[in-house]
Amino acid sequence: MKSKVFFLPACRFEEFDRAILRTGIFNPFKKGDRVALKLHFGSMGHNNTIPADYMSGIISVLIQKGCFPFLTDTNVLYRDDRAETATHLEVASKNGYDRLGVPIVIAGGDRGDDYVSIKEESRYYEEFFMAREYTEIEGMIALTHFKGHGLACIGGTIKNLAMGCASRKGKFAMHASITPDIKKKKCIGCGLCGKNCPAQAISIVNEIAVIDPAKCIGCAQCVHTCPQSAIGIPWSSVTPREFQEKLAEYANCARGLFGNSFFAVNFMVNITPLCDCEPDPGKKIAPDIGVLFSRDPVAIDRACVDMVTASQGPDIPAGEEKFSRTRPGNHPHFQLDHAEKIGLGTRDYEIISL
Ligand code: SF4
Ligand code: SF4
Repeated sequence: MKSKVFFLPACRFEEFDRAILRTGIFNPFKKGDRVALKLHFGSMGHNNTIPADYMSGIISVLIQKGCFPFLTDTNVLYRDDRAETATHLEVASKNGYDRLGVPIVIAGGDRGDDYVSIKEESRYYEEFFMAREYTEIEGMIALTHFKGHGLACIGGTIKNLAMGCASRKGKFAMHASITPDIKKKKCIGCGLCGKNCPAQAISIVNEIAVIDPAKCIGCAQCVHTCPQSAIGIPWSSVTPREFQEKLAEYANCARGLFGNSFFAVNFMVNITPLCDCEPDPGKKIAPDIGVLFSRDPVAIDRACVDMVTASQGPDIPAGEEKFSRTRPGNHPHFQLDHAEKIGLGTRDYEIISL
């Protein structure tokens, strides 16, 4: 059966608040529900994130229904403004999200270690490590700026649910299949990483940190702790296909927490080859297209890829898949195919114009 994907073109964005009501997509949300508006607060360097104003219509519908909405994301794995709660909140504030009159919650704890382990057998995992707050609430609306991504090829709803809802340990489990890397030239042997390692897996040998892979539990605290940025994520330990398939499995776990009280909104504006995490996400690869709404994470991301492919970009012609063009060996369909296979949704969709 085809999944419904509602579409409002960019030229009618001013109708956003009325259009979203016509979808009936809020129906399952009920009085008393705590609803996460899951988004990416952007970076300090550019304004490619979803304008805060688009949240206000969604927030007022939820409040009218008696729900308790809050804006939320988790701290990131690597060293960045969004790696710690205090600076993450500053980014949210700089991008205007603190003006909306609802709480902003950085989930999963300041160290990213406040998680719930969910046991589920999948191709890659036996358990998933999700930020605790998302396991304790009734609903989620995934609000995603749809764009490219260095490793995932696309940053859509699947990526927002997967990387965005996982604890630091979960994020590391998607990014790497081995222990973190010690960059010997940068390490000064201060021992801080060892003091913060929950598994006592780090020792200092000849004034350099050494990780014992037999003890390491992959929590990635050391990546975050090292003041010299001497501990890195071994990005190349997973292939792009494996990474995308792991994303699909984490997204499936996150989506499973909310039953019917879930929908996704993908904003197809400022579509760049790289993610909003980057200080410079690159030149636009497609015109502004519009906004899509769906309950199905696979259908909405697939529809976005198809619309970008069909669009005439400044450098890439209509009909050409634009995200994999600069990434040989990578393709957005890796995550879409696996996501469909594991039951997250369907690639078969119908567009309903609003
Ligand atoms: S915290 Fe960083 S610099 Fe200090 S010992 Fe660990 S890896 Fe080396
Ligand atoms: S990833 Fe966690 S368990 Fe492994 S060495 Fe780093 S801090 Fe220790």
